[in-house]
Amino acid sequence: MKYLMKFGGTSVADARCIGLVVDILEKHHNAGDELAVVVSAQRGVTDQLIDIAEKLPTAQNCAAVPPLIAALRERHMKTLEGAAPDYVEEAGAVIEKRLASLQHILFAIYNLRELTPRSKDYVISYGERLLAPIVGAAIRQRGIPSTVLDGCEAGILTTPQHGEATALVESDARIKAKIGPLLKTEIPVVMGFMGCTEQGIVTTLGRSGSDYSASIIGAGIDADEIWIWTDVDGIMTSDPRVINDARVLKSVSYIEVMELSYFGAKVMHPRSIDPAMRKNILVRVKNTFNPSHPGTMIVR
Ligand code: ADP
Ligand code: ASP
Ligand code: MG
Repeated sequence: MKYLMKFGGTSVADARCIGLVVDILEKHHNAGDELAVVVSAQRGVTDQLIDIAEKLPTAQNCAAVPPLIAALRERHMKTLEGAAPDYVEEAGAVIEKRLASLQHILFAIYNLRELTPRSKDYVISYGERLLAPIVGAAIRQRGIPSTVLDGCEAGILTTPQHGEATALVESDARIKAKIGPLLKTEIPVVMGFMGCTEQGIVTTLGRSGSDYSASIIGAGIDADEIWIWTDVDGIMTSDPRVINDARVLKSVSYIEVMELSYFGAKVMHPRSIDPAMRKNILVRVKNTFNPSHPGTMIVR
């Protein structure tokens, strides 16, 4: 079987969680499945980036930047040390370089007193840029080769609508050409939430956009199934944070999921079903912390 597996912010929140993620991947890899992976930022990081980027143009000073960079360094390096001890130097160097460039951009936003939609998209894509190298290293730690690609490198071409970009159909062939050949020998990891325009300008796909990335990449590689791994057993009758006796649904239709998310159910990105539906790919929502639960099937 060929799978696209996406892991959300809670599933990659720390080294222990990433350990569970690679357990799942290793099991399928050893069973002979082909796997591509999409990852989000660690829980809370995108919010931190949005918050600082929006404050800097009117801030009195840029004193908040170095502590944020230091906190991101500490969290990501601690995760890396726990998840991939043999790759601390290699992946750590990548993280260090990305933190330096993020710091430069944040200082520039402060100095220019301007945050354009384009620069905001670039800044908020850093959550995924910092995390994905750790997941790639954690996969290599288990002896499985893994290339890490950003959304643009993976082939996701989008409209120039910053903050809410839509994937263009041309993405399909590009993804197939870039990711397809890797599946035979390794588990490629793609940074969710982002793509780029035909000019190579970074765009983001909207909040929770890595669900949409999963569906775009899954459709591009013609996956047999797309699995969205999260922190609940599946799609439920209501938000379990609000309703105590919410139940997990065994199966729902593409249209029902679209309606749910358009009306605000915060379980999946509203446009994330589109590419999967176009190719009639079965989507499953499953719990990283309870992987034996069958989860919810999303079907035509
Ligand atoms: P991830 O980081 O994996 O993308 P999200 O926080 O974006 O996870 O989405 C999963 C969360 O969505 C669950 O923890 C749950 O609290 C919330 N949620 C809201 N509505 C629903 C629903 N109908 N079914 C399941 N979860 C829901
Ligand atoms: N990191 C992005 C967000 O917080 C995308 C995602 O988590 O799906 O919105
Ligand atoms: Mg989400």
